Amino acid sequence: MSPGSDSQRFDIAVIGAGLNGSLLALAAGESGLHTALVDRVPLQSLTEAGFDGRTTAIANTSQKLFKALGVWGDLASRAEPILDIRISDAGHDGRASPLFLHFDHREAAEDEHDAAPMGWIVENRFLRAALLRRLQACPKVELVAPDEALDTARSPDKVMIALKSGRSIAARLVASAEGRFGTMREDAGIGARAWSYDQIAIVLVARHEQPHRGVAQEKFLPGGPFAILPMTDSEPSDGKGGEHRSSIVWTEKASIAKRLLELDAPRFQAEFARRFGDHLGPVEPVGPRWWFPLGLVHAERYVDERMVLVGDAAHGIHPIAGQGYNLGVRDVAALVEVLVDAKRLGLDIGASDTLERYASWRRTDNLTMVAATDILNRLFSNDIKPLRLVRDIGLAAVHRVPPLRRFFARHAMGLSGDLPKLIRGERP
Ligand SMILES: Cc1cc2nc3c(=O)[nH]c(=O)nc-3n(C[C@H](O)[C@H](O)[C@H](O)COP(=O)(O)OP(=O)(O)OC[C@H]3O[C@@H](n4cnc5c(N)ncnc54)[C@H](O)[C@@H]3O)c2cc1C
Repeated sequence: MSPGSDSQRFDIAVIGAGLNGSLLALAAGESGLHTALVDRVPLQSLTEAGFDGRTTAIANTSQKLFKALGVWGDLASRAEPILDIRISDAGHDGRASPLFLHFDHREAAEDEHDAAPMGWIVENRFLRAALLRRLQACPKVELVAPDEALDTARSPDKVMIALKSGRSIAARLVASAEGRFGTMREDAGIGARAWSYDQIAIVLVARHEQPHRGVAQEKFLPGGPFAILPMTDSEPSDGKGGEHRSSIVWTEKASIAKRLLELDAPRFQAEFARRFGDHLGPVEPVGPRWWFPLGLVHAERYVDERMVLVGDAAHGIHPIAGQGYNLGVRDVAALVEVLVDAKRLGLDIGASDTLERYASWRRTDNLTMVAATDILNRLFSNDIKPLRLVRDIGLAAVHRVPPLRRFFARHAMGLSGDLPKLIRGERP
């Protein structure tokens, strides 16, 4: 690859404009780093309703970062606060065990006046649109899409990225935010632990008669977790008020999920309603059914010469705890902070000691969540009677010990560990 005339033009080239890459490009650009953001699809198409039917549980600390970057203003009216989380075990009939675990957001607060939601449920399309609007307004970011990174040539002083269009861009550092199926990690010789869960997450929106009152529920069924996540009411139309809605992440063994997805509407509704239960009155799915095969990938290293891995490209986890993106948000906050610190000191932002600081900052938090989600899924996605008894007693035991409940609630909110500035709501 021959160096282009725009050699050394960018501080950082971010490959992949998913939720992580977009956020990284915005945080870097807002911090004064000259940034290129590359994606193979037109960026506007990522925000369309037909692109991604999921919602994301934005943890309390991730929301502070969105506020600090000026993204939250666009999202606030579309974000439903999670006030309580209720976790229960259920058998084949979908009936919850009487032993359960309940988290109340007030318990996680330092004092009673400081109580904040544990997180917010936001539709991915709104999250993507809010990020794109801010990116388009950021003078330090160049959006390079649709185009695809085909090859990178990394040398001691720069990285050159060859794009499918024939253009080549130069930067001090390249960040792979290519998601779990990215190729740059492997091309750089970085190995990973990766396996499939032989599970599929069926994702849909359900409307129900009663309001959810901000309660997120997770029922552990034999095929996998069934999550009921509180959404904002639908927009009022035809003189009728908005409908109460929840986002569903319904995990099943892959073979069963495929059969469920092929069912006609009445039979699908019956299977769905049996698992959902009747606690919110009559319930029915609305809109399309989405599905996502589930697996785990964790890179052996997050950095290489002039290269970093961010988000799912570094660690793709099971959605059982709704934490995959929140880990990526913390990656972004830590990476931008070390880059800004290096730049302020007049150091090379792509130097290996700068990148190592990022990698060591993020490793423990990511590894803990990778392990926790993997163990939780293995422990709960079955109907083995003795195991069920042990885990039910475990849930009930945590429920009865307030300091333990507080510990887990603060962890889910992202309030533990050495938090980067953006995660505390400050600019780096
Ligand atoms: C069912 C489900 C529910 C979830 N719920 C939650 C939740 O509630 N809370 C939470 O925190 N997380 C959740 N997650 C996890 C979260 O969705 C992911 O962590 C996140 O979307 C990953 O984003 P990403 O940007 O890293 O990767 P991706 O979304 O995979 O984006 C990668 C992008 O890179 C582009 N790309 C790849 N290679 C190239 C290339 N060579 N050149 C150009 N472009 C390229 C692709 O086009 C794509 O746009 C959930 C996941 C699932 C499956």
